[in-house]
Amino acid sequence: MTLCFATNNTHKIKEIQALLGNSHQLLSLRDIGCTEELAEDQETLEGNSLQKAEYVFQHYKVACFADDTGLEVEALNGAPGVYSARYAGDQRQPADNMQLLLKNLQGEKNLKARFRTVITLITKKGTHQFEGILNGTITFEQRGTQGFGYDPVFVPEGYAQTLAELSLDEKNKISHRARAVQKLVLFLKAAR
Ligand code: IMP
Repeated sequence: MTLCFATNNTHKIKEIQALLGNSHQLLSLRDIGCTEELAEDQETLEGNSLQKAEYVFQHYKVACFADDTGLEVEALNGAPGVYSARYAGDQRQPADNMQLLLKNLQGEKNLKARFRTVITLITKKGTHQFEGILNGTITFEQRGTQGFGYDPVFVPEGYAQTLAELSLDEKNKISHRARAVQKLVLFLKAAR
């Protein structure tokens, strides 16, 4: 089955294609000829992923799914959350975002955090949402070069390494996105 994943982020396409295996051929936005930037101006992860999937489904008439992820830090009342990508400003720089996060957590003892992903799937049969969560803690010492975003400051529960110190395969076994995608894949297989 062919399915558009509403993103051009090659890191994410690689991560998710690895999880899907041969059962689905994943098309990026570029592959379906969508070059415009998709709006994501809602106040929740659920709202943003729905907004992107709806846009693609309505304009390009292809079965598609879209994701939205946020880093939710307990001591910051869930921030940066839906604003994770542009926490430190519209330049969307991971280094700036991490620096601001660590500054806002200075002196804080509770470093519990979680990544949360929401995927919205839209096909001719309807709309479905899937959630994936990865619990962990924030570390003040940035470590590792793999992955992207906040990976160097996030230590998953049960691990000593940060996400940026894990290989793509290791991250894919436990990640928030992987967990949401696993639910999506189970759903797609059951619906065939
Ligand atoms: P998106 O919805 O997947 O684009 O994620 C929004 C923002 O959350 C990204 O720009 C990153 O800052 C952060 N983020 C999402 N997924 C990850 C991840 O797997 N590791 C680290 N940061 C992530």
